[in-house]
Amino acid sequence: ALYPIHKFFILNGELKTNDEFKPAENEGGVYEVIRIVDGKPLFLEEHLARFSRSAEIAGREIRYSGTDVSNYLQDLIRENKVYNGNVLVSCKVNLKAFFIAHSYPTKEQYRSGVECGLLHAERENPNAKVFQTTVRGRANQMIAEKGYYEVLLVDHNGNITEGSRSNAFFIKGSQLITPPSEKVLLGVTRQKVIHCARDLGIDVKEEEISLTRLPGFNAVFITGTSPNILPVSKIGITDFDVQNTLLRKLMKQFDLCIEQYVRN
Ligand code: PMP
Repeated sequence: ALYPIHKFFILNGELKTNDEFKPAENEGGVYEVIRIVDGKPLFLEEHLARFSRSAEIAGREIRYSGTDVSNYLQDLIRENKVYNGNVLVSCKVNLKAFFIAHSYPTKEQYRSGVECGLLHAERENPNAKVFQTTVRGRANQMIAEKGYYEVLLVDHNGNITEGSRSNAFFIKGSQLITPPSEKVLLGVTRQKVIHCARDLGIDVKEEEISLTRLPGFNAVFITGTSPNILPVSKIGITDFDVQNTLLRKLMKQFDLCIEQYVRN
């Protein structure tokens, strides 16, 4: 949910409150959600690159440079005196950024995994991060009604593409599999996880994940700016091993990756 919890100000210096931000009015606008860790925007370069790419795909022009956004975030962190949390950066006409309420998973959810539902839905431009209230709305409704942590989107061919706000990975033996790049949002976390896996010598493949394949996987996890890497315990009627060695190894490696980024 995009409920701003701290003030924001627009780049020309005029201070406004975040009450003036209405997701519906920003439909079609490009955005990023960036995690702030110890005052540092995590994986900022990757987020800025995707911000530009989303604008390009959506046929919009962002009049602000990466340095503008970066300076803006530094001001925002300092002004709000908030050093850990999630920031929403959005651009439809003007650049806006503010801290939003986040829901990081609990320790117990990391330990025992979360249950995910399935939703037949396709995002319009999979590679672009654009405000789209329809798929998000349906996903949020299903999540609220059934108590799922996330719903995985299923396309018209019966293939799982990604979560409504996350990417999905599947483990079979020593193989790590994720749906094809052109069908999903190129999650910054997804990209980092693929790097971590390669660092660990784990084989990563992009493949279509038809629903019929689900019982054949040992473990499943989702990735995103808020969950990082989160084990999935169940999808529909299929259970997965949340203690899977490869999964747990990747989670450790990813924590190291964050630590390194924040320290440097
Ligand atoms: N897919 C979708 C549809 C999303 O909205 C998100 C959240 N931005 C992700 C994947 C995960 O991306 P990231 O790792 O950059 O947060």
